[in-house]
Amino acid sequence: MSSTRISRALFLDRDGVINHDPGYLHRLEEFVFLGGVFAACRRAQALGYRLVVVTNQSGIGRGVYDEAAFATLTAWMCERFREEGVEIAAIYHDPTHQAAGQGAYRRASPDRKPAPGMLLRARDELGIDLRRSALVGDSVHDIMAGRAAGVPVNLLVAQSPDATDAALATAVVGSLAAAVDWLERHS
Ligand SMILES: [Mg+2]
Repeated sequence: MSSTRISRALFLDRDGVINHDPGYLHRLEEFVFLGGVFAACRRAQALGYRLVVVTNQSGIGRGVYDEAAFATLTAWMCERFREEGVEIAAIYHDPTHQAAGQGAYRRASPDRKPAPGMLLRARDELGIDLRRSALVGDSVHDIMAGRAAGVPVNLLVAQSPDATDAALATAVVGSLAAAVDWLERHS
């Protein structure tokens, strides 16, 4: 019985999918939600997806900001979602960078996209069925992580994507809202 109740996830990249991406975002005053994000997430929830954020945060490893700043921003973001009727099931982040990380952050990480580690952890820790899940990202590295994890639907948010990047995605869409439109059409 429990096996039929394994949940599925909509994996969301953060910067460029949930919010504007100014680069190494770490201040609350710089965090601006993209249009239609809350309604899109409510619709994804209605389709049965748990929302899981998977975000590379090499700004931590590079010393631009620290884990505490990321945690503060994350708590605020989750509260804003909650106020809008959206439950973020989990947020995974990877602070490393193989070339530019400082100290212990300078290493190859199985969690840094395009590697699939964060998605595999969600599978194990949240009981996510990756084969019934989907991913939305604005970088080909997001798409590659989803593919490597065995997620069958990987939607690329882009205006005029590189053809090779677009070919790796299940579909190219203009926004998270358009991605959820796609999921609704194909559910
Ligand atoms: Mg991004």
